[in-house]
Amino acid sequence: MTQASDTLTKDAQGTTAAPSKPEALWFDPSLCLIGGEWVRAAGGTLPLVNPSDGTVICDIARGGAPEIDAAVAAAHAALEGDWGRLTALERGRLLVKLGRLVESQVDELAALEAADVGKPLSQARADAVALARYMEFYGGAADKVHGETIPYMDGYTVYTLREPHGVTGHIVPWNYPMQIIGRSVGAALTMGNACVLKPAEEACLTALAFARLAEEAGFPAGALNVVPGLGAEAGAALSGHPNVQHISFTGSVATGAMVQAAAAKNVVPVTLELGGKSPQLVFDDADLDAALPFLVNAGVQNAGQTCSASSRILVQRGVYDEVRKRMGEAYGALTVGPATADMRLGPLISARQKEIVTGFLERGSDLPIAGQGVVVDDAPEAGAYVRPTLFADVPATHALAQMEIFGPVQVLIPFDTEDEAIQIANGTEYGLVASIWTRDGARQMRLAKKLHTGQVFINNYGAGGGVELPFGGVGKSGHGREKGFEALYGFSQLKTVAAYHG
Ligand code: NAD
Repeated sequence: MTQASDTLTKDAQGTTAAPSKPEALWFDPSLCLIGGEWVRAAGGTLPLVNPSDGTVICDIARGGAPEIDAAVAAAHAALEGDWGRLTALERGRLLVKLGRLVESQVDELAALEAADVGKPLSQARADAVALARYMEFYGGAADKVHGETIPYMDGYTVYTLREPHGVTGHIVPWNYPMQIIGRSVGAALTMGNACVLKPAEEACLTALAFARLAEEAGFPAGALNVVPGLGAEAGAALSGHPNVQHISFTGSVATGAMVQAAAAKNVVPVTLELGGKSPQLVFDDADLDAALPFLVNAGVQNAGQTCSASSRILVQRGVYDEVRKRMGEAYGALTVGPATADMRLGPLISARQKEIVTGFLERGSDLPIAGQGVVVDDAPEAGAYVRPTLFADVPATHALAQMEIFGPVQVLIPFDTEDEAIQIANGTEYGLVASIWTRDGARQMRLAKKLHTGQVFINNYGAGGGVELPFGGVGKSGHGREKGFEALYGFSQLKTVAAYHG
């Protein structure tokens, strides 16, 4: 793996630049990994576009039903073979080793993710560090997930076993490939499942790089298979496959519903991590100096293309004008440019996503703008850049306050009372994350219970991403939990053993 750093391109300043040619990669991105072999897809290839400048980075495999079939068969063979024979401790050690390899390649992985996703380099780097941390956390947890003994009738000993589902399918989006692979594939491998990973067609380089590192770490053939391709082809083949025992899907509500329906035909359990319209509630007694950076960053990180982005800022009237002014100023200082320039925001993932976000900005033309960032002058014309925008005085029922935009757009919504804030916060079809900014301890506790979300943060937002913290939604934000130990329970099934011995 040491050749990775030698083969990445260097820019004029001698820093690592995002690769623009396949020769710059340390694996062939046009292949799938199936049963330990790097193979071509029968469907040929697809171009992979760099959203910072619209150029084609390389071709990737257009996997489909034949490759998914082969990958599922290889995963079953791995379960019957070397992978299935490993103890929890041995699996954990492999994960820890993989984490160390990821750590040793953080800059290379960041360069790939920056090129692929358009993510500013330092944010891409943070994702690579998080991927390593997932491996460390789950590797260490592998031999610490126990069953229980259950007191029962006289003459019985009853206990439970935690066993893998079998073959798990992982359908991953383009916005945080490394983090989402870390939390879902990492937890599934920990529990002894064999994985078939279908990365997004817009961004799959780090999935392939991760698989190369897993090979190097010594994972047996077939434990992790990667089939890039289109959602309607590879994704649909995986979610409807009769020999897959669990599906983890992260992406849009519409696709998630299709994946669940396809899996239901085979009675396969599904974890869905879908979108959000996550609010931050700022009360009159909030510490505004502490809140300000979180209020803005949670909306613009990864150019707003974050499922847990905080796109709604609910502010009590007493501090509304001040928050509006200060957030507006912060927006004025936001710069947008190519991923390698490492500004606060990079481009959106694609021209299509830019069209969607621009459409939302037009829908807000009746609203006052409290602040707007700038796209730097030398940003390439063909890049998918938009100006981050903060709208003020937005009615809670407005489309911008209800629909997930998946771009750097936040809305300010004023409120008077705590009850009104709760009603507005719970007033969308989503429920992923919320935060409460107040010094009132009783209010903190009350609201934490009343908000309909999977996570609540008090006087912070996101708690640093925490791999240890269970994550997932309610309502249209999905169901099931990933991250933390909850993911290990989700990626395993419980068997009850009742022994009668008299
Ligand atoms: P998407 O649902 O279209 O794609 C996500 C993944 O699903 C990709 O790998 C894609 O190839 C695959 N896919 C597409 N059609 C499929 C099908 N018919 N069967 C099986 N798989 C299929 O999502 P997108 O539009 O690319 O991503 C943006 C959306 O994803 C946003 O709206 C956001 O809400 C959501 N998202 C949510 C999270 C989360 O963790 N909750 C994370 C990222 C993105």
